[in-house]
Amino acid sequence: MSAFQRLWSLAKQETTSLLWGTVFLLIASGLNLTYPMLIGKLIDSVKDGGGQEAVNQYAVWMIGIFVLVGISTFLRSYLFTVAGERIVTRLQERLFKQILTQEIGFFDQRRTGELLNRLTSDATVLQKAVTVNVSMGLRFALSGLGAIGILIWTSWKLALLMLAVVPVIAVGAGWYGRILRKISRSVQDAFANANSIAEESIGGIRTVRSFAREEHEHARYKEGIESAFALAKKRAWVGAWFSGLISFAGYGSIVAVLWYGGHLLASGEMDFGELTSFMLYTFTVAFSLGALSGLYEDFAKAIGASDRVFDLLERESEQIDGSTVLQNPVGSLQFRDVVFAYPTRPEAKVLKGVSFDIAPNQVVALVGPSGGGKSTVAALISRFYDIESGQITLDDTPLADFQMDWLREHVAVVRQEPILFATTIVDNIRYGRPTASTEEVIAAAKAANAHDFVSAFPEAYQTLVGERGVRLSGGQKQRIAIARAILKDPVLLILDEATSALDVESEHLVQEALERLMENRSSLVIAHRLSTIQHSDKVVVLSEGRVVEEGTHQELLAQEGLYHRLVHKQFVG
Ligand code: ADP
Ligand code: MG
Repeated sequence: MSAFQRLWSLAKQETTSLLWGTVFLLIASGLNLTYPMLIGKLIDSVKDGGGQEAVNQYAVWMIGIFVLVGISTFLRSYLFTVAGERIVTRLQERLFKQILTQEIGFFDQRRTGELLNRLTSDATVLQKAVTVNVSMGLRFALSGLGAIGILIWTSWKLALLMLAVVPVIAVGAGWYGRILRKISRSVQDAFANANSIAEESIGGIRTVRSFAREEHEHARYKEGIESAFALAKKRAWVGAWFSGLISFAGYGSIVAVLWYGGHLLASGEMDFGELTSFMLYTFTVAFSLGALSGLYEDFAKAIGASDRVFDLLERESEQIDGSTVLQNPVGSLQFRDVVFAYPTRPEAKVLKGVSFDIAPNQVVALVGPSGGGKSTVAALISRFYDIESGQITLDDTPLADFQMDWLREHVAVVRQEPILFATTIVDNIRYGRPTASTEEVIAAAKAANAHDFVSAFPEAYQTLVGERGVRLSGGQKQRIAIARAILKDPVLLILDEATSALDVESEHLVQEALERLMENRSSLVIAHRLSTIQHSDKVVVLSEGRVVEEGTHQELLAQEGLYHRLVHKQFVG
């Protein structure tokens, strides 16, 4: 699809406003075209001795026309601009929805700042093009064409002379549009890049500060923004050439008309009033051309920017949703010869044929050296990625068959670094189940050992946690995350080193909360604590993408293999 077709597909719903806008546009442009003729007539009537009365009459006529032009212009401008704003709002809303529904692998490849740029900066460029510009563009195109028509009708010889500049402009515009579109796309890309740098540095300000890398980040941002500037400068250079050319062509045609018109006047082929109105129409054409060239520039820029926006808008998630939902899931999980590589690194197999089971209400501990693929197993159970071969089933149904929302509602993951949203504590807990009552939220907080510390805050559950929860300690954040998971009441729970970032004191509180959370459901515990592992029903040892040992804690210790070594290194030695 071309950029115009894509834009039109967004504009379709605004057809009514756009049609009415066009009606008022036609009225205004039509009326506007009458005044040079009236001025010509006025001059001629004065010359022919029409006197004061004729002058008054023409002046009243013109005021009347301009009042109507004013009203139509108001309506045209309002209708087109609001329709344009509506279109861009719809575009942003759809774009945001589209971004949210992409598969997780998509986000592994892109930076947040880049996506934000698509939503804001690119959309703003588009906004200008489809709001004021469409309305103005149509207006100038119509008055320009109308004036040309009248010119041809008045004196085709003069009109042809004047129109001799049109091919020059057309060739220039074609060349210019192509270049501008290309540069514009790179300018937007360069801005997106600079934006990502800013987003990264500001988001990671604590790391930047503690390594005293402000200067470095500044330099990085400066480099990004300077490269955008260099491209924008190139764009300005091309634009300046085009404006100069158009301006010269416009005024040149005026001079040519004046020169030849003077001849016609001298030889008596044309009278004074006629030449005056001819000149006024020529000005109208020249002015419309100049204005159109400016709008054309914005439009070419917008089309350049819109390429990326539309690519994103039309991108479908690579994951296909299933349809199965279960009424009473029991939470048995099975991995059968699962082979998996991340989409960003397809040649590096992270899981090389992993098989293990979790029976209903069983607690299975997953242990192994760092980088062995434990968190990857957790991500696959939430179906963040699709596997290459083998099978993962929940209650004997392949994960890919489940409705994804259903699956994610019934599996909860508590990670080492929980991410909270920048709202209140109660909203963060309720994120687990938006319909939960206040009593249920408080009950969940109590079970998560969070109620006491929350109540101690002056604003209790209404306390704002700050971006990503920065205003809470690690242990507090973790207990909020656990309350959230309790509220969700999942059939399968995954704990990914949920206590490993905590101090001894809060680890104890969190551990207690986790044990309550694990009651009456199947759990996969990626563990670093010996006591958790000892109390599990089964231990699965994962190393370099393979299950190397499996059994109870006692059985594995007796084997004196990898598990034995891990336990000794971590907890004894
Ligand atoms: P563990 O949790 O056992 O420490 P992970 O499952 O996090 O290990 O990682 C297993 C391997 O997968 C590592 O080599 C890691 O570099 C790689 N990996 C993890 N996440 C991604 C990702 N999003 N994209 C590409 N590779 C990844
Ligand atoms: Mg991990």
